[in-house]
Amino acid sequence: MAPTDVVAIDGPSGAGKSTVARLLAQRLGFAFLDTGAMYRAITLHFLRHGCAPAMVAGESDRGEARMRAALATASLELAPGRIALDGVDVSADIRTRDVEAQVSAVAALPFVRAAMGDLQRQVARSGPVVAEGRDMGSVVFPSARWKVYLDAAPEERARRRCQDFARQGRQVSEADVLAEILQRDRLDSTRAAAPLVRSAGALYLDSTGLPTETVLGRLLAFVRGEADGA
Ligand code: C5P
Repeated sequence: MAPTDVVAIDGPSGAGKSTVARLLAQRLGFAFLDTGAMYRAITLHFLRHGCAPAMVAGESDRGEARMRAALATASLELAPGRIALDGVDVSADIRTRDVEAQVSAVAALPFVRAAMGDLQRQVARSGPVVAEGRDMGSVVFPSARWKVYLDAAPEERARRRCQDFARQGRQVSEADVLAEILQRDRLDSTRAAAPLVRSAGALYLDSTGLPTETVLGRLLAFVRGEADGA
């Protein structure tokens, strides 16, 4: 299969993927696809429709039917750094802990992944794209020209998430955020559908202790062919 003009960036929560992927897309003149935001927006939609996984636990088939029906009515619009659900900007609403508590369970549902994957490939058909998530290099864009796995120590990822929450005016204990991050890592890496994995041939980058500019510089060098990914 011919390589597609996609920079596929995968990695665990809080590794700094969104920030660096957005900047990389700007520098390269590529579109930017934050696929975590898409799963978060669908989770918000399910919460608002009373059918998030924790709400339908015990309903079995009926619960799935309600989620499928809600998914069919969800309309997502993507813009760099922003996402709208049913015509309303929900970029801030998708960053809450309520959403985070449910998003991994929503993202484990094969019918949700199929719908999101279709949307993501549709975006990439319009031109080159920097796409970040958990299964970009492994499932959605297996023939991506560039694959990256961006990692960071869990404690640093928790610290960064706490800083994000503080910017939203919320004080959260770092220990609680660390526990939530480890739980999400576990769910994302062990699920049957498109688990988080390091794709073969992906550039591995540990951003622990590195400023954003340094990570960005390494990715730019990789994409421009000045580094071999080793
Ligand atoms: O990257 P972010 O923290 O915004 O992702 C939120 C959640 O969405 C992840 O914990 C994961 O469960 C899910 N996700 C996914 N596949 C992707 C992107 C995100 O399963 N490609």
